[in-house]
Amino acid sequence: MVNIVLFGPPGAGKGTQSENIINKYGLKHISTGDLFRKHLGEGTHLGKKAQSYMDNGKLVPDEVVIGMVADFLDDNEGAEGFIFDGFPRTVAQAEALDELLEEHDQHIHCMVMLDVPQDELRKRLLERGKTSGRADDQNVEKINVRIQEYLDKTLPVAGYYQGQNKTCKINGVGTIEGIFADIVSEIDNHLD
Ligand code: AMP
Repeated sequence: MVNIVLFGPPGAGKGTQSENIINKYGLKHISTGDLFRKHLGEGTHLGKKAQSYMDNGKLVPDEVVIGMVADFLDDNEGAEGFIFDGFPRTVAQAEALDELLEEHDQHIHCMVMLDVPQDELRKRLLERGKTSGRADDQNVEKINVRIQEYLDKTLPVAGYYQGQNKTCKINGVGTIEGIFADIVSEIDNHLD
């Protein structure tokens, strides 16, 4: 059983690398951004609550995100482990995740942090916006708000996991294969 947090600013390559990690370790993928987009598409109550925040590049309130993740964990009781992609994004979410995992007799093994310079992030997000169909990838102002939200609210999460000796910083610029090799060696170092 292995539980990993994949961490980094928007455009750092979390989606791409999470696919590789899932295939290697047989984990269940949970991307809170994907779950919110699904709710939005289906027009659910939760989707309606999240919409204005997402449209403006702001973080959805903690209690909404945490409730959604708690339901996901309950629904996937028999999983071999999880990769958390885009969650936790605040210290309150990180604390809540530890509590939720404890209820399932689980814990986080490793927080993989993809480090990418801001100019490169803006370039990648605008490029992704040409094909992703995501409105929040196509507008420089929204991209800037998302990066600022990351710096203000999400970066402190790295300190939270550092305090538990679980933060592994990886250079997120390079080939997909090279970055993946670095991730694997860090994860393997943190297995029980
Ligand atoms: P992402 O696909 O991870 O870039 O997420 C897209 C949007 O969904 C974000 O800009 C937020 O509005 C919202 N979102 C996704 N995950 C979270 C989270 N853990 N906490 C708060 N908001 C989130």
